[in-house]
Amino acid sequence: MLEQRFASRRACGAPALPDRQAPGHLAVIAPHPDDEVIGCGGLVSSCVAAGSRVSVLFLTVEAERSLVKPTSRAGGDRRLAECADAQRVLGYHARAHLALPERGLSSREAELADRIGVWLADLQADRLLLPNPDDAHPDHAAAARAAGVALSGLFAGSTSRAPELWLYEVWGPVRADVVAPLDAAARARRGAALDCYASQLESLDYHAVMDAIAQAAAVAAGLAPGSHAECFERLPASAWRPRLTSAGSTRAH
Ligand SMILES: [Zn+2]
Repeated sequence: MLEQRFASRRACGAPALPDRQAPGHLAVIAPHPDDEVIGCGGLVSSCVAAGSRVSVLFLTVEAERSLVKPTSRAGGDRRLAECADAQRVLGYHARAHLALPERGLSSREAELADRIGVWLADLQADRLLLPNPDDAHPDHAAAARAAGVALSGLFAGSTSRAPELWLYEVWGPVRADVVAPLDAAARARRGAALDCYASQLESLDYHAVMDAIAQAAAVAAGLAPGSHAECFERLPASAWRPRLTSAGSTRAH
């Protein structure tokens, strides 16, 4: 089962969702190469196995390290090669790169919204995964805000054709109402994909980060002790703009 009913303690009374099948076309927006693994690598590989087409848009290539060891630079070419290796492990079909500067998205949100809109218009995705607008990383919050502007522009007149929107978490929890438990095979595949990003693992134990997120998600969902999961917040079209554009916009970065 790809997903299961989830009444999260973090969902604050949100209704449980019915079981859902894998989408025909899953799209993912990843601010940085590695977010597609840490935030939703299990769901991506599960959807691929279930027959979905999966496309990922990466917004940045590495220009500077923003969280740790700012003098440790992997270089864009190395990061792109790592990204290609991780794509092979997860098995998804297509990726594109906007190549904007890391930690520079919040100053270019109008351009970012336009370029996300162009990508989405051609894609005709059934489900779109976005970073959490409350994420502590400014690039993640900026990506969510820009995607909200792009979605509102593209589907203002007809939200029935819009992809269903799920938020994933990396540096801060979402208001989770969907959970995707990770079995041993899915955990191994996610781990192998993360191993591709050797440049990142040199400066921080991202395996520990990814496992901590997955364990917290499982605990909040009431899964068995020792379980791992990825959790998501599902947004109806009526919540796009208020949810995506309000959070994080007043945060000082
Ligand atoms: Zn990131």
